[in-house]
Amino acid sequence: MLSKEPRLKGDDSKAWVAQQKLKIAIDGPAGAGKSTVAQLVAREVGYLYIDTGAMYRAATLLVLRAKIPLDHQKAMTELIQRSVIELQPTDASSPEKIRVLLNNEDVSAQIRSREVTAAVSAVSSVMLVRELLVDKQRKMAGLGAVILDGRDIGTVVMPDADLKIFLTASPEVRAQRRYDELTAIGENVDYDTILHEIVERDRKDTNRAIAPLRQAQDAVMILSDNMTISQVVDTIIKLCDKR
Ligand code: C5P
Repeated sequence: MLSKEPRLKGDDSKAWVAQQKLKIAIDGPAGAGKSTVAQLVAREVGYLYIDTGAMYRAATLLVLRAKIPLDHQKAMTELIQRSVIELQPTDASSPEKIRVLLNNEDVSAQIRSREVTAAVSAVSSVMLVRELLVDKQRKMAGLGAVILDGRDIGTVVMPDADLKIFLTASPEVRAQRRYDELTAIGENVDYDTILHEIVERDRKDTNRAIAPLRQAQDAVMILSDNMTISQVVDTIIKLCDKR
C-alpha cells in the first residue's frame, strides 16, 4: 500500500517504510532464517509479523494429538476446520512477537518439536488445509504493515505484495545453523541427521502439487551463506525503501 505523500527530506528509511504500511513476503526453504529475519524487520518498522509456518505446525500438532493417520485427509481437514488456530501478539507494544494459540492453548513451544517438524510437510500438502489457512493469512494481512514468511507467500497468499524476498542458503549452511541452535539449548543432535531432515523437507515442500515452494518471478533472491542476520535485515529494509 504505497502512499502518494511526497517523501519529506530527512525521513530515514525505517520511518519511511513504517509510514508506507507495505505488505512484505519472505519465502524460502527450511532453516534459511526467514522467521528470525522477518521478526527483526517487523520490529524495526513496527509491522505485524505473521509466521505462516507456525500455523501449519499448529494444525499438525492437532492432527498428531488426535492420532489421525497422515494419509486420512478428510478426517484431518474436518478436525482443523472445527479448531481455532490463532497468532496473537504477546504484547501490544511489540507486534512482531507472537504466540501461537490452538483452541486457546498456547502451543508456541510444542509446535517446534521434532515430531511436528517431521509430519508438517504431509499436513501442509493437503489442499483443504491450505485453503483454510491461506484464507486466515490473507485476512490478517489485509490492511498492510505486515510481513509474512512461508513457502507460498509471494506466489499464492499475497501475489500483490509490495516486496517479495526469496531467502535461501546452501543446505549445509542451514543444517549447521540449526545444529548450532539445538546444541546451544542442550539438545543432543547429529549434524548429518539434521542435514538429511532439511533436504527431505525441502524436497517434499518443493515437489508437492499444491502451492509448492518456489521463487515468485518478481521476488528478489537473497543468498545468506556469507551474510549476518543484521546484513540480511538491512538489505530488506533498503529494498523496502526503494518501493
Ligand atoms: O517455516 P516452517 O519451517 O516453520 O514451516 C513448517 C512447514 O510448514 C514447512 O516445511 C511447509 O511444509 C509448511 N509451510 C507451508 N506453507 C507456508 C509455510 C509453511 O506449506 N506458507
